Amino acid sequence: MLYIVPTPIGNLGDITHRAQEVLSTVDLILAEDTRVTQRLLAKYEIHTPLRSYHAHNEHQTTANVIQLLKDGKTIALVSDAGTPGISDPGFMLVRACREAEEEVVVLPGPTAFVPALVGSGFPCDRFFFEGFLPHKKGRQTRWKFLVTIPHTLVLYESPYRLVKCLDEIRTYFAEIRNVCVVREISKMHEQYHFGTAAGLSAWFEKHPEKVKGEMVIIISSETSAREGQEEDDDE
Ligand code: SAM
Repeated sequence: MLYIVPTPIGNLGDITHRAQEVLSTVDLILAEDTRVTQRLLAKYEIHTPLRSYHAHNEHQTTANVIQLLKDGKTIALVSDAGTPGISDPGFMLVRACREAEEEVVVLPGPTAFVPALVGSGFPCDRFFFEGFLPHKKGRQTRWKFLVTIPHTLVLYESPYRLVKCLDEIRTYFAEIRNVCVVREISKMHEQYHFGTAAGLSAWFEKHPEKVKGEMVIIISSETSAREGQEEDDDE
């Protein structure tokens, strides 16, 4: 049996009782970065053996993991934060388990885009999750596709490309859109920044100290802009 176990995206309290129980009782935990997971396990006094499973070894490791499952081992997969498979390794292993008819149990739990989407206040009855855009090749093609989606859009972005991404939103979308940049969800400096792409780009250029941490960008499907409206809990 393979368990997919979501782990906290910031606040270490955001782990379910069931996740702790599974991590304590499986034979092996596959972790994206064993050092990161070790810190979580230490907090909850979990002593299950850890093995590395990340984007660079998932092709080679998947067959071994399937063999362990066939031998009757119970295994949990975790990523550094959030739900494995969501912009993290996991998909390949789950697909291999399905093909090998090995049982998979996915625990519900933390993931960054749900609190960001809901907290933005933008329509969340229908949304499109893009995750990370390609850094270079194919980025323009994705933007041209995204402008055709009539729903709220959800992107993961690194602080290094935040201003570039906001400038691209301004360039590619014909009408002005409301945008929300959500930083550091569930951490001490959690913040929601609202505005147009142009307004937010200018604001972040003026406040480079805020261009840091982990972030989710939400683009509203609504066309009415809330020009210059920025919410900053620090100020
Ligand atoms: N598996 C994770 C999930 O379920 O959300 C996503 C992992 S992906 C490698 C990391 C990205 O998720 C970050 O670059 C950021 O876009 C987003 N993210 C993760 N934790 C976050 C947080 N605490 N606040 C805001 N965004 C976060």
